[in-house]
Amino acid sequence: MSAEVKAAVRAARTGGAGALDEPAGKKLLASFGIRVPASRVARSADEIASAVSALKPPYVLKVVSSEVIHKSDFGAVKVGLKNLTEVERALAEIEAALDAKGIRGRSWLIEEMAAPGLEVVVGGVVDPEFGPMIMTGLGGVFVEVMKDVSFRICPITRADAAEMLSELRGAPLLQGARGRAPVSTDALIDILVKIGGEKGLLTESADEIAEIDINPIIVTAEGATAVDARFILQQSVEG
Ligand code: ADP
Ligand code: MG
Repeated sequence: MSAEVKAAVRAARTGGAGALDEPAGKKLLASFGIRVPASRVARSADEIASAVSALKPPYVLKVVSSEVIHKSDFGAVKVGLKNLTEVERALAEIEAALDAKGIRGRSWLIEEMAAPGLEVVVGGVVDPEFGPMIMTGLGGVFVEVMKDVSFRICPITRADAAEMLSELRGAPLLQGARGRAPVSTDALIDILVKIGGEKGLLTESADEIAEIDINPIIVTAEGATAVDARFILQQSVEG
């Protein structure tokens, strides 16, 4: 298991958490060479202001809280924010929504927006019988409504990853259906192998990581960016 995985898992367990928060999850993905948006974590008005000046607009603002799993369901993701004023307004809106639900402790993730593209999900679970398994599908409504996903047992090769993508009913969308530019399947294959390949994040860490959900990865002609990440830890007693 990589030193990065060990450190992230230990920090989360020390804090009593059964999962990595989004900033920790993205840091882990980045350490495996997976592109994530430039971001800052902020806990105060001052930190919000310095995050905004350190990053390039447009911004995305999200809450970081162990009580908020699907952030959008709580109105806790705001995209396309052009400047500090808009970030502060978005923050006040999210705070009001969370206060109304009695959700207290939280920090903020401010990040740059990925260029628009096709949303793809990559996930992983550790099956009691088969061990680590990797999954991919087209993101958003496609995954939830169409159940258009493919699975493999880890470790996978680049050829396996390419096959997983071509098996999807929505595969023509990757080739640029309806006059859209084709997206980089190579960038997606890279991510699949970095998670589920021979030395992949999940393949190597299945004794510590129970579940991975990268939803979505935004893929364009030029590359792929993981804009959300969730890691659920194994329920082991020792850290
Ligand atoms: P949730 O917890 O609701 O899944 P996400 O972090 O996935 O929250 O954000 C919800 C949606 O907002 C994503 O599916 C994506 O469409 C968009 N989004 C989030 N972060 C970014 C980003 N950095 N750049 C572009 N779009 C983003
Ligand atoms: Mg998401």
